[in-house]
Amino acid sequence: MTSKSPEMEKFLNDLTKILYGRERHSGACVACGSHKVSVEDFRDALSYTEYGISNLCQECQDKTFKTLKTRKK
Ligand SMILES: [Zn+2]
Repeated sequence: MTSKSPEMEKFLNDLTKILYGRERHSGACVACGSHKVSVEDFRDALSYTEYGISNLCQECQDKTFKTLKTRKK
């Protein structure tokens, strides 16, 4: 999960810090701060990939994306 450029990585880190007040890659979900994030928590590979990008646990991904999707229906 290191295909992002250093600039992009820095941007994401800064953005996450602004949005959630937490550092990424601390081993915890950036939104709820849960330290119990593990591969088994994720429903599928896509969700796990998303965690690699956004550092959101499955639960917080569900909340976030449900909010986004309900606007479409
Ligand atoms: Zn979470």
